[in-house]
Amino acid sequence: MTNALTKLMATRDWILADGATGTNLFNMGLQSGDAPEMWNEEHPDRIERLYREAVDAGSDLFLTNSFGGNAARLKLHGAQKRARELSRISAEIGREVADRYDRPVIVAGSVGPTGEIMAPMGALTHELAVEIFHEQAEGLKEGGADVLWLETISAQEEYKAAAEAFKLADMPWCGTMSFDTAGRTMMGLTSADMATMVEKLGNPPLAYGANCGVGASDLLRTVLGFVAQGSERPIIAKGNAGIPKYHDGHIHYDGTPDLMADYAVLARDAGATIIGGCCGTMPEHLSKMRAALEERPKGPRPTLDQITDAIGAFSSAADGTGDDVAPPRRTRRRRA
Ligand SMILES: [Zn+2]
Repeated sequence: MTNALTKLMATRDWILADGATGTNLFNMGLQSGDAPEMWNEEHPDRIERLYREAVDAGSDLFLTNSFGGNAARLKLHGAQKRARELSRISAEIGREVADRYDRPVIVAGSVGPTGEIMAPMGALTHELAVEIFHEQAEGLKEGGADVLWLETISAQEEYKAAAEAFKLADMPWCGTMSFDTAGRTMMGLTSADMATMVEKLGNPPLAYGANCGVGASDLLRTVLGFVAQGSERPIIAKGNAGIPKYHDGHIHYDGTPDLMADYAVLARDAGATIIGGCCGTMPEHLSKMRAALEERPKGPRPTLDQITDAIGAFSSAADGTGDDVAPPRRTRRRRA
């Protein structure tokens, strides 16, 4: 394996990813309801700044502005025919930024969910999902992405379709799911379910993990859930900056840069290799996260109590992986 991310992981104990794309773009004037991917063409200077500020704050890896850049999502904006092109431009801007630095910087081509429910529960067939993801993957590849980065996925069917599409594009990839429903994804997967599913894929990711969800504490509990499955595969932690709260009609994240610094160190000690933020994470958070990862020595794996003592309570009593919790949607998995 000679891709840039594998090379970087071979030389480092941790890699700092980036923060929020949406929160940063809203601060630059994006209106809710707009497709952020149109800015790749309309405001390339702002996208360049989004990427550059993350790298200047210490990120080793950043995600392209292409989260909703698949045909299913762009259809909502009448731009379904532009998935490949808009994704390519997002990666081209990223490539140009990354190549300016004299340290390795990884351009990760963001691929978000289709927004549709997959068969058998919904209408989106596996074949069509593969085609949608493949089209976007080719655009990101053409633009110069080092790796593809699937994120915020809820359904294992969708994760599997993306894995197949990325094989067609012949690109290395990483993939995270969002555990936003009492420790499970919206479709009911636990961290244990995901760790098991990933190892069974024909085209497994270089690294897997969790992004977004609820708060930073919950995300660390999910990381501990992956680790408990004994997987050797590198783990990704991309948690929100604190807990989302409504304030004056906006969603506001209350996590300070110091809290995210503690979160980053706890994520590393819990077993994550690629550590970043999600919603609410700004360059000032990333700077503190970088400094903390560099300055604080690696410690023992934190307990759940140590996590909540350091960065706040969980949003739910359990994460669905314990024997004391009856899973709501599927039969209880047998534990070894
Ligand atoms: Zn998020």
